[in-house]
Amino acid sequence: MENTDANQDLEQLERLMSPCVLCPRECRAERRGGAKGFCGLGTEIVVSDAMPHYGEEPPLSGRHGAGTIFFSSCNLRCIFCQNHQISRKTTGSILTPEELAEVMLRLQERGCHNIDAVTPTHQTPPIMVALDIARRRGLTIPYIHNCGGYESLEVIRLLAGRVEIYMPDMKYGDDDLAQEFSGVKEYRRHARAALTEMARQVGDGLELREGVAVRGLLIRHLVLPGCLENSFTVLDDIRASVSTGVSLSIMSQYTPAAQACRHPLLGRRIRRDEYRRVVDYALALGFSQLFVQEVDDRHLSPDFDRDDPFNWE
Ligand code: SF4
Repeated sequence: MENTDANQDLEQLERLMSPCVLCPRECRAERRGGAKGFCGLGTEIVVSDAMPHYGEEPPLSGRHGAGTIFFSSCNLRCIFCQNHQISRKTTGSILTPEELAEVMLRLQERGCHNIDAVTPTHQTPPIMVALDIARRRGLTIPYIHNCGGYESLEVIRLLAGRVEIYMPDMKYGDDDLAQEFSGVKEYRRHARAALTEMARQVGDGLELREGVAVRGLLIRHLVLPGCLENSFTVLDDIRASVSTGVSLSIMSQYTPAAQACRHPLLGRRIRRDEYRRVVDYALALGFSQLFVQEVDDRHLSPDFDRDDPFNWE
């Protein structure tokens, strides 16, 4: 990407933050003037934590961990959020882009294989400013945009050339569930468009070097209890909007959390047979690059099989 194009993309990204249309909620809050939209943040970077993280899929955690940076708040408000201690709060360490760039460089110095931004959607412009600074100061490891799938197509287009690995969730194939569980409209349409654009930029598989991901797309789907039709439609949608060659992580670790604990559907963990039905459906559709888990395998060993990184048992 030419520098002038890259700078123009960054300027356009920053314009999209105020009035804010950074995500499909399109709150149009004048964040630069101090107003706050649904996610409750201004224009500053707010970080909850940063650390080597060994719980991502093996090609991302590798032996030395993903360099995970947890950003405070979220543009979604899933009633079952598995990360609600971070996603619900708007407080944390307020960093300048220069300071965030230093955090990225420190994670690289600690041996992390990548910068794993969780969840970046509502803070994307200043994160990209920080990434540019870190690149100029010697950051060479890939940047992972680890997001919830409810993304603006225009924003994803503007990230072309900056993101090496996209790791979006694909939560819903049923917009009524998306409205009920996450309070969003048209999740399906927005997520499908974003996934197609992500695959266009970085390809639909994960490119590995010595067992560690350096580029590509990995889509995650968390199987929800009693919502198998939703999972089946998600898989149909991924096949239609990307391909069956995409790296796909079917996650079994759902645990009732936050308001979901008392929900009639969501108040329990998934059963082994539910998970198996979703995996079988994916296999029947022809998905070949699957990350699967045993139900109840809550913790993944960093000591994965480097010769067979897709064997995630
Ligand atoms: S990023 Fe936040 S303020 Fe902007 S549109 Fe989304 S929820 Fe609203």
